[in-house]
Amino acid sequence: MDQGAIFSLLKHHLGTAADLPHVDRVAVGMTGACGSSQRQRALETELEIQRAQLKQAQRAAGMGGWVWENEAGGCMRWSDAFYAVTTLQADSLPADRRWMRVLGRGGRRQVLSAWRRVQREGNEYTFDMSHRAGDGLTLQLRVWMQPHLDPNGSLQRVIGQIHNVSAQRQTDALIRWRTELLNRVSALGRIGACEIEVGSRSMLWTEECYRIHGLRKEQISLDQALSLYTQDSQDSFCAALDRIAAGGLPEQLELCFYRHSGQRVWVQVLVELDQREGLPERFVVLFRDITREREANERIELLAHYDLLTGLPNRMLLREQAIEAMEEARKRGATLAMLFIDLDGFKAINDTFGHATGDSLLKAAAARFHQNLSNADLFARFSGDEFIVILRNLSQPEDAGLVARKLIASLAEPLYRGDSALKVGASVGIALMDETRQDFDTLLRAADAAMYAAKSAGRNTYQYYSQDALARTQRRLEVEHALHGAVDREEFSLVYQPLVHADSSQPPSIEALVRWEHPRIGVCGPAEFIPIAEKCGEINQIGEWVLDEACRQAAVWRQAGLAFERIAVNISAVQLRERGFAERVIQTCRRHNWPPHQLELELTESALIRDTDALRQCFEIFETNGVPLAVDDFGTGFSNLHYLNRFPVQRLKIDRSFVQEMLHDAGTAEVTQAIVQLGHALGMQVVAEGVETVQEELMLRAQGCDEMQGYLFSRPLPPRQMAQWLKARV
Ligand code: C2E
Ligand code: MG
Ligand code: MG
Repeated sequence: MDQGAIFSLLKHHLGTAADLPHVDRVAVGMTGACGSSQRQRALETELEIQRAQLKQAQRAAGMGGWVWENEAGGCMRWSDAFYAVTTLQADSLPADRRWMRVLGRGGRRQVLSAWRRVQREGNEYTFDMSHRAGDGLTLQLRVWMQPHLDPNGSLQRVIGQIHNVSAQRQTDALIRWRTELLNRVSALGRIGACEIEVGSRSMLWTEECYRIHGLRKEQISLDQALSLYTQDSQDSFCAALDRIAAGGLPEQLELCFYRHSGQRVWVQVLVELDQREGLPERFVVLFRDITREREANERIELLAHYDLLTGLPNRMLLREQAIEAMEEARKRGATLAMLFIDLDGFKAINDTFGHATGDSLLKAAAARFHQNLSNADLFARFSGDEFIVILRNLSQPEDAGLVARKLIASLAEPLYRGDSALKVGASVGIALMDETRQDFDTLLRAADAAMYAAKSAGRNTYQYYSQDALARTQRRLEVEHALHGAVDREEFSLVYQPLVHADSSQPPSIEALVRWEHPRIGVCGPAEFIPIAEKCGEINQIGEWVLDEACRQAAVWRQAGLAFERIAVNISAVQLRERGFAERVIQTCRRHNWPPHQLELELTESALIRDTDALRQCFEIFETNGVPLAVDDFGTGFSNLHYLNRFPVQRLKIDRSFVQEMLHDAGTAEVTQAIVQLGHALGMQVVAEGVETVQEELMLRAQGCDEMQGYLFSRPLPPRQMAQWLKARV
């Protein structure tokens, strides 16, 4: 029986008992000073029954009754149950108002104010109070008062009940605390709960559930809620409900929905059936927001298997996918091709314009390639500027070449960056899976070797794997290996080639060119080993040696009275970037007592394109010390010539390829003429390299070239012969 029901029962009984003339019978049940009066037997019996019921009800509900009679200045009476509830000693209370002494001051005030209110308004009144019981415990009591007035309207009697609500209060507080705790825990763990009635499909959500779904706290139907979810999630959720309703075990699902803001949210959902007596059957669904975990997992997956810059599979995933594809091709009795792509000129752009530009260039190049591949092809970024394509549906080997050609052509248009157009090419190596190349690594080695063959074949082209290609890759590795320690082993030497003035009355200048002879490899030309030395870092040590030796030799020749204007040394872009390079150049000159203004540094265009503070400082030192700079192989690098204004360049060296062509091609002759004019307009001198014939010399002279260098005048010579050549000119 709940509290409300007990109250109405009591009210009914008390009401009846309080109705005159039964009131004196009620008083019979009370212990007090007022005594009892005689009534009819039948009524007494009925009263007995009611009294018994009342006692029972009071005991069951933890209630006690009291009555106040306005006779003789007011007299209180208390039932046994009252004493039981309050733990007061039976008959311990005085009948007059002194009984209130058992109450504390607060309690007294509450009772008096209730009393006045009942007197004033003549209505029933209920209030709660606390009472310190004899055993020291504080009881929470609910007091109910019902006034009875005589026909004149004056207060005749007040009938009351007290109810010990301490336990119930504690329970309420506990429930409140637990609910609050649960709310806090669920908010902390982002756990929302929802109940769905199996029959009516009506649904109830907790606050956290609304929060997870990004919704305001408004009634929401199951269908409305489902409509937020992706179709897959809706399907799997409904299927789970069906299974569970049919007696299946609780299920855990991961579902995905989109908030109104468009944000994607992943929830882990636990569904079970709650069959509780007295309540309709319900699904209880717990939601946990696992978006962050999911995203973290997705990110880990992404990091492990994808290249973050281009979004392409990385080499790990490529290997997995390629092995699968190879297996599958073997089963079909088919073949496949691997294309190893390396961008040409990428390194120079990266060094020149910085990594941000390099990155966007890589992305743009990857996008171009992607457009030219089919969905069946695997496409991955292997490393740096290397990409790999696996052609799965290869009907004949030539098709791989066609794809390679398409990929190379896709880079024909420059990849733009702001207003400067940047261009890279691609060298592609192709290897086909066959009996000798059945596993991924062998295929990869073959494609890599073929790519190097494509590079040597002039770049921006493709090559199929051949024994030759493999031999070249092996040679590269061999050279790289042999370069280590070559300076210390004194394997390098210098040869010298003169640069002759157009005005033959002036003394020539001399360019130092490095030579390398390794005991096993033999003689190896700079065109082959310099790029390798640049890649493996050996170039710094080699460059330093060249500079030192050239200055030393120049000073010796000068001492010997040989006439020449300056000595020129080739400098790699890698050397320029080394800290303290300019200072070391000046120190070298001092060491050999060679005037810095007679040491020319030949730099390639790519070394000059980059405009960094370090580079400016470096050139400032050269300028202060009067070290002249020449741009070597001019015309083969970038089309952007801003650097000519930025850096103190004194000389342009027209690349050999223009000189070789100029007699056969009018367009090329115009280019050399334009270079001469450009140089002169900028106050520079212009040198032509690779002059082999008298016709070339004549044409260059006619175009106004200041100096010439080439086999026509002299091949590069060892020191002794160079000295003789110089002597012979005097
Ligand atoms: P470079 O600085 O443009 O040097 C000119 C190259 O052209 C030299 O090749 C020279 O032998 C060659 N040559 C000169 N006249 C003629 C000619 O009339 N016809 C033809 N066909 N060739 C001619 P080499 O010595 O093999 O050097 C190749 C490149 O290696 C050089 O080109 C330079 O870029 C680089 N190099 C040489 N020595 C060094 C060095 O000490 N340090 C650095 N960083 N690079 C060097
Ligand atoms: Mg040079
Ligand atoms: Mg050159």
